Amino acid sequence: MTAAYDIENFHTALVEHGLIVPTGVQGAYGRGAAFEDIVRGFNGIIDRIAQADGAQEVMFPPIVARALVEKMGYMDSFPQLAGSVHSFTGDDAQARELSERVHAGDRWEDMLSPTRVMLAPAACYPVYPAFSGLLPGDGRLITVMNWVFRHEPSDEPTRLQSFRMRELVRMGKPEDVLAWRDDWLCRGLELLRGLGLHAQSDVAADPFFGRAGKMLAANQVEQRLKFEILVPVISLEKPTAVCSFNWHQDHFSAKFGIRDADGATAHTACLGFGLERVALALVKAHGFDSQAWPQEVRTQLWP
Ligand code: ATP
Ligand code: ZN
Repeated sequence: MTAAYDIENFHTALVEHGLIVPTGVQGAYGRGAAFEDIVRGFNGIIDRIAQADGAQEVMFPPIVARALVEKMGYMDSFPQLAGSVHSFTGDDAQARELSERVHAGDRWEDMLSPTRVMLAPAACYPVYPAFSGLLPGDGRLITVMNWVFRHEPSDEPTRLQSFRMRELVRMGKPEDVLAWRDDWLCRGLELLRGLGLHAQSDVAADPFFGRAGKMLAANQVEQRLKFEILVPVISLEKPTAVCSFNWHQDHFSAKFGIRDADGATAHTACLGFGLERVALALVKAHGFDSQAWPQEVRTQLWP
């Protein structure tokens, strides 16, 4: 049975079936047509749910203002995961030196300067500043999908440096936001189980940096601020988080002045599906040929 959860064989089979295309960069493989079909199918399910729930869709680019990353506290908690965009801003002479260094095989990265943008670390980050001010009476529900970057290079197919996150973000009165989160924990489990996945939920913590981070993580667990839905993909004992639920309380709304209809500081929560992880969980459960998947799964993904 352990052989059935062998990471290397799984990776090899994904390549052989054209689902993923190696690029030589860890956690940055290409996605074949069949893989993209699965991602599109699942994302489509979320589209339909989001629409029925009255969610407002917004699309942001995969870069965010450096100032936003700072304000969200990302560099305090997850500096090890951040990705910064740098570019060349020098003069002619420096440009010539840069080019010479590149072709001589010398280090040249130190000739770049930081730009005002960073790679998006989570799909929901640009949502909060966009909705500062008063919310309507029953709050707001926003949905976003974006490519995100996390510096965690790995050969493990479910741990990527660049991947897509499909999120729903709820903003409103504390009791409404908490009820939404609790309701979605059940809905998320039902949805994934309905696709034939052995999904379980559990309290979770973010990978906060360093020794101080251990305290933050313990606190997060104790307050039950983060939940995950886990599905066995590369290991039976250590199932993979395919969806995360974060209750931010007033952490982000206070920073951006998001207030409920009565003027009080609102609460926010988000849930995010890791689209590549969902696709890989489906492949693991139903096989490498999606044409041969059970009909009841296929009709949900490709109605
Ligand atoms: P926040 O907005 O507070 O940063 P989040 O919910 O947006 O949190 P995470 O909980 O860190 O972000 O991740 C959301 C989902 O993204 C996870 O449940 C997982 O499915 C997917 N994910 C996270 N890291 C990776 C990775 N390295 N490779 C592939 N998928 C990942
Ligand atoms: Zn989020």
